[in-house]
Amino acid sequence: GGTVRFEDVRFAYDPEREILKGVTFEVPAGRTVAIVGPSGAGKSTLSRLLFRFYDISSGRITIDGQDIRKVTQDSLRAAIGMVPQDTVLFNDTIAYNIRYGRAGASDAEVEEAARLAQIDGFIRSTPHGFKTEVGERGLKLSGGEKQRVAIARTILKAPPILVLDEATSALDSHTESEIQTALDRVSEGRTTLVIAHRLSTVVGADEILVLAEGRVAERGSHAALLAKG
Ligand code: ADP
Ligand code: ADP
Repeated sequence: GGTVRFEDVRFAYDPEREILKGVTFEVPAGRTVAIVGPSGAGKSTLSRLLFRFYDISSGRITIDGQDIRKVTQDSLRAAIGMVPQDTVLFNDTIAYNIRYGRAGASDAEVEEAARLAQIDGFIRSTPHGFKTEVGERGLKLSGGEKQRVAIARTILKAPPILVLDEATSALDSHTESEIQTALDRVSEGRTTLVIAHRLSTVVGADEILVLAEGRVAERGSHAALLAKG
C-alpha cells in the first residue's frame, strides 16, 4: 500500500495569498515522483500538508484512498518518513537520534543504518558541541552530517512512504553520490515523493512534476522534460 493522492488541493498560509491553487497528482504505491520548481513555488508546503501540519482550504489528500483527515496523527507519522531540508537533532547521542526513527531497534540495526548513511564512527557523541572553560567539547555536526543522521533515522524507520526534501542538498558532491545510493536503496519499493530544485537530481523518478504559480505546470519523464527545455 501507500498510494498518495493530492486532489485539487488549495492552500494558503495567509488568506490574502494562495500558495496552492488546485494541485492534483498521484504517487502510486512503490513509485517515485519528484516535484521540481522555483524557490517559493510551494514544494515544501506539499510535504507539510501530507503530514497535516496545516489544513488545506479545499480538495483532498488521500493515502490508499483514505482522506488523511480521517487518519490519526500517530498513524500518519508511522506511515511517512521525512528527510527534511534542515534537521533539528536532540541534544543526546547520535545513536539516540537515529533510534528515534524506531524505538525498538537493536544496537546492531542502529549501527547498520548509521553505516549506510555514512555517519558511523561517532554515533556515541552528541551533535551540537558545547563550550567549556577549557574549550569546545563534543561534536559539532555540519548541515550535511545532520542530514545524514536524518537519513540514518529514516533508513531505520523504513516507512511505506518517504518524503525527501532536497535530501542531499547539504552534502558535498563526493558524499552526495554515496548518500544517493543509500537513499535509492531505502526508497526502492516505497512510495517516494522527492522535492528538488534541479531536474538533474531526479533522473531516477518515475514521473516529474513542475510546480509553478500554485499549479502543476508540466509533468513527464526526465527525458521528456529535458527535451522541452
Ligand atoms: P518551496 O519549497 O517551493 O521553495 P515553500 O513551500 O517553502 O516553497 O513556500 C511556498 C511559499 O509559502 C513561499 O512564498 C513562502 O514564503 C511561503 N511560506 C512558507 N512557509 C510559510 C509560513 N509558515 N507562513 C507563511 N508563508 C509561508
Ligand atoms: P514518531 O515519534 O511516531 O516516530 P516523529 O515525530 O518522529 O514520529 O515523526 C515521524 C516522521 O515525521 C519522522 O520521519 C520525522 O522526521 C518526521 N517529522 C516529524 N516532525 C517533523 C517536522 N517538523 N518537519 C519535518 N518532518 C518531521
